[in-house]
Amino acid sequence: MLNKKSVDDINVKGKRVLVRCDFNVPLIDGKITDENRLVAALPTIKKLVADGGKVILCSHLGKPKGEPKPELSLAPVAVRLSELLGQEVKFAADSEVVGPNAKAAVDAMNDGDIVLLENTRYRAEETKNGEVFSKELASLCDVFVNDAFGTAHRAHCSNVGVTKYVDTAVVGYLMQKEIDFLGNAVENPERPFVAILGGSKVSSKISVIENLLDKVDTLIIGGGMCFTFSKAQGGSVGKSLLEEDYCQYALDMVEKAKAKGVKLLLPVDAVVADEFSNDANIKVVPQAEIPEGWMGLDIGPETAKLYAETVKTAKTVVWNGPMGCFEMPNFANGTETVAKALAETDAVTIIGGGDSAAAVNQLGYGDKMTHISTGGGASLEFLEGKELPGVAAANDK
Ligand code: AMP
Repeated sequence: MLNKKSVDDINVKGKRVLVRCDFNVPLIDGKITDENRLVAALPTIKKLVADGGKVILCSHLGKPKGEPKPELSLAPVAVRLSELLGQEVKFAADSEVVGPNAKAAVDAMNDGDIVLLENTRYRAEETKNGEVFSKELASLCDVFVNDAFGTAHRAHCSNVGVTKYVDTAVVGYLMQKEIDFLGNAVENPERPFVAILGGSKVSSKISVIENLLDKVDTLIIGGGMCFTFSKAQGGSVGKSLLEEDYCQYALDMVEKAKAKGVKLLLPVDAVVADEFSNDANIKVVPQAEIPEGWMGLDIGPETAKLYAETVKTAKTVVWNGPMGCFEMPNFANGTETVAKALAETDAVTIIGGGDSAAAVNQLGYGDKMTHISTGGGASLEFLEGKELPGVAAANDK
């Protein structure tokens, strides 16, 4: 459980509260095309307004790379938030984020008012956790609330730097929910605990595999990284994704799993293609016998069945990374089968952001999962057992 102070542990009446939100929403021609992140931020904002705080919101949006880019302004977010909240969200249109508009707007606030600052990444120091911008942000507020899980694995001015200059720093409801679900699943799981890892490369999942082997009963591996395991164990992988340098590591992980009594499941068959295209020639072959000139782009049907059956035996399942190149319909079966198995089980199901979250939502299984993390990178680092800087910066209980 989270040992950090949250918005429930403080009194914000009459205080200026800076809230770091995740308003990184997709925009096309100034129109917000998916407002899930705005809706997800409402409970914390409403709570602070109801408690009589002067609520100053901030967020990044896209990658303006340290300079004002009108197409990445948060202005449309202020308009939509006003509608969603049924009260004015005053937009402080300063290209330097903390400028004359922001200062005047904050000075004029009454209890319960809301102001939104401009895109924090208009400032080059933001992603470098620079002191000047951190202090400027802190000068606007008495209390800081971090409710942006998506950036919690990064130390930036608006989520970490600012806390050095504010006495009270707590987490919001969204952040608390993420940490409670991910933390409980990993540290205190109902067993059997099964983790499913996919995605492209072993090299990017090393710390996750290592950390999870200490926690799970079964570790299932799919996606591009399984071919490094196959090759290491003497199989032929054709022209599948392979990281030769990680073959020894893969063998070490197989040994570690054995030593820990963890069941490590690797694919038994593969859907292979003669080129990286949905229109390629396709066949199913044993995992260890991928012919020269062919590449594995999805787990095979036997493997998908085996993985789905294993999910049925679990009481807790954590999933990160697709089982194949699911963006191409002919290689989506493995990912879809696993998603369906998770949707059908009564187990606690936690989806760790990014591609697996997108796959689950696209298939319409979103509401069947216990928790879908809003942060791909952050949830992965959480599964690696790392302390996230954005969480660490909040006051302890
Ligand atoms: P990651 O960002 O590491 O989670 O990787 C996600 C990407 O891995 C997706 O875009 C998938 O298309 C890709 N992927 C999954 N399986 C394979 C595979 N067998 N070969 C190549 N890429 C894959």
